[in-house]
Amino acid sequence: MKISRREFLKRSALGTSALTLAPNIKLRGLEKYPDGWRGRQRVEEIASFCEICFWRCGILGNVDKHGKLLKIDGNPQHPLTHGRLCARGNAGHKLLYDPDRLKYPLLRVGERGEGNFKRVSWDEALDFLAEKLLTIKGKYGPEAVGFFPHGIHARFFSHLMKAYGTPNSVEPAFAQCRGPRDVGYKLTFGSSVGSPEPLDFEETKMMVFIGTHIGENVFTGQVLAFAEALEHGAKLLVVDPRFSTAASKADWWLPIKPGTDTALLLAWSHVLVYENLHDKKYIRKYANGFERYKAHLKKFTPEWAEKITEIPAARIRETARAMGKYRPAVGLHPGRHVTWYGNDSQRARAMANLTALLGAYGQPGGLYLPSRVPAARFPSPAYPKHKPRADGAGSLYPLGSRGLGVTNGLIDATVAEDSYAIKGWIVYGQNVLQSIPCQERTREAIAKLELLAVVDVMPTEQMLYADVVLPEATYLERHDDLLTVKNAKTPFAAVRQPVVQPLFESKPGWWIAKEMSKRLGLEDYFQWETPEEYLNYRLSGLGVSLQDVRADGIIPVKDATPYLNGAARFKTRSGKIELYSSTLKELGFDPMPGYEAVEEVPKGYFRLLYGRSPLHSFARTQNNEILHSYMPENTIWLNNKVAEKLGLRDADTIQLENQAGVMSNPVKLTVTAGIRPDCVFTVHGFGEGSPFMTRAYQKGTSDTQLMSRVKVDPICGATGMRVNYVRIFKGGTPLMVEGAVAIKPVARKESVERKEKVSRPKVVVPEDAEEGC
Ligand code: SF4
Repeated sequence: MKISRREFLKRSALGTSALTLAPNIKLRGLEKYPDGWRGRQRVEEIASFCEICFWRCGILGNVDKHGKLLKIDGNPQHPLTHGRLCARGNAGHKLLYDPDRLKYPLLRVGERGEGNFKRVSWDEALDFLAEKLLTIKGKYGPEAVGFFPHGIHARFFSHLMKAYGTPNSVEPAFAQCRGPRDVGYKLTFGSSVGSPEPLDFEETKMMVFIGTHIGENVFTGQVLAFAEALEHGAKLLVVDPRFSTAASKADWWLPIKPGTDTALLLAWSHVLVYENLHDKKYIRKYANGFERYKAHLKKFTPEWAEKITEIPAARIRETARAMGKYRPAVGLHPGRHVTWYGNDSQRARAMANLTALLGAYGQPGGLYLPSRVPAARFPSPAYPKHKPRADGAGSLYPLGSRGLGVTNGLIDATVAEDSYAIKGWIVYGQNVLQSIPCQERTREAIAKLELLAVVDVMPTEQMLYADVVLPEATYLERHDDLLTVKNAKTPFAAVRQPVVQPLFESKPGWWIAKEMSKRLGLEDYFQWETPEEYLNYRLSGLGVSLQDVRADGIIPVKDATPYLNGAARFKTRSGKIELYSSTLKELGFDPMPGYEAVEEVPKGYFRLLYGRSPLHSFARTQNNEILHSYMPENTIWLNNKVAEKLGLRDADTIQLENQAGVMSNPVKLTVTAGIRPDCVFTVHGFGEGSPFMTRAYQKGTSDTQLMSRVKVDPICGATGMRVNYVRIFKGGTPLMVEGAVAIKPVARKESVERKEKVSRPKVVVPEDAEEGC
């Protein structure tokens, strides 16, 4: 199937997102400035990188002589995006000029949750925070402060918190996103997947997506590469209960029964091995445990998997054979948000092992290898010794990340105080009420705190509970730490520099951390005067200065080694790819991935699935004027036949009630044949609970609110969140199919399901240097 780019865009629903990738897209009311002039006014272009989402595409801010940002263009020097931005990146100036922004430091004057604050000076706010931190340190020890960072801008404060003495730093990037994937791949290949996912789209002959929504979950570079791969004729296999944008481009769409993906992966592996389609030479050279894995796979036939996945055995064989035909140039996408059912590390293992059987790891067209970006580390004293982490990473959850932490583990520890007291939280650029499930538990934890500080750009719901609020400058108004991107065939570094001066009284993160260091007696950890001095030092490792790279903003690294060559050594215990994991065995887990059935959805209920839109990032952009105008609220996708049975029509307003009796906001329906009858789907991030977010407030519904139940992955502590069921209400009445019985909520209580706590031997698995989303 060969289609031209024009035809591709025309035919595709991806056109909606792909069109937003056109360079210099005309946004409403903005114009292009020929030759750097707008009328008689010179426009300056300043290179930096986007932070509307975590992919951080290269940007050029167009600024007039009054220092006003006129528009944002893509930076053509960026090795992955080549001058393109998505719709959200183009709309970044509306974050900068959002009238709802946090403008001044605030101190709470009413009860937590009421949202009553008084404006204070920076000195007052920082003195308040420092005094609280020193009091907590004196009373309970520094470990009693939990840090919830997100984004590259939080790195300076992260450094400060380590210097202060707490190990308890946690990001949803691990336990609510990609943790199980990185654990699974690390166990097999010795390295976690990293960002962006290193799919070799340029060389691939077949792409395989399992619950991966490229085109809805937009990284500009990845969408471009995906479109190019389709254009050069790569086959596409999409496994998804929903006819996603990617599914609409697929050669095969397998509408799998939710929760059964591991059965499919094992059956595919069975076909490859028992039909001799796997890469024998590669496995002999690089892997161990093959014979054991082969024997293990024997029972996982396509016929066995058909009954579980509801995908015909013949189709399973056909698609496995296609992978066998195109190997090793098969790009099996490892996924990103993979915290689904609480058995996700083992599903990731099954994916990683399948990738190995295809010989696709470190081979052209499969997954390429990360390279080194030798940025220098600014000298700093060693961090103080501290008590063990409170979140269970490395203990209760043996392979929980010690770099990114286990958010839900820290929330549990704050509520239970079972290891030691957690009395302070600093939430920095995260939205703990939207990104972490079991909101009531989070509120319960907050109620126990002696300090909640929020550092943010926008007044999201968590700010209502804060004792002190520090308004950070946006990504367009500040320097940040150096960005290093190892997962690229041309690895590179990028600098963030202010495009405009900070508005109102907002301050850059580096300034906030440095000022706090003075108040906490930790100045030695910040032995630089300006961010330029700091960045110059970091860049010296790459042999350039800030001055050299100011104009382009990008520093490509030349000596990439994306493919395996010769007798490669993997960073596993055996030095080989481990199809059989001795680490898991030693920890008391299955050394090879098996199939663990997930609970069936009760009759009359639907499994709640959620995902992304190309127009919004998490819960961050719903207040953005332009993005809001295109997508002000989310809807609920419902299968058309189910809708007919229930007497529902497209655009009807309904509510969802989950198994624990939690009721959603009123929300509109999207009735479609493009979703299985046993599930509903919505876009994450809506239903904002802060009245200070005037555009987004109560628009659409929050999927997180309905996630009052999670299943915790015993290997790494990540929360499986697709274990919530909903029924539909219209006009206050539940609509149930014949024979269905409503679940009787025992109490409107949240449930965190863990396997029994067992004592496990201490096995230390070295970690890759990880960055959050
Ligand atoms: S994908 Fe879009 S929002 Fe994300 S960094 Fe790139 S341009 Fe910005």
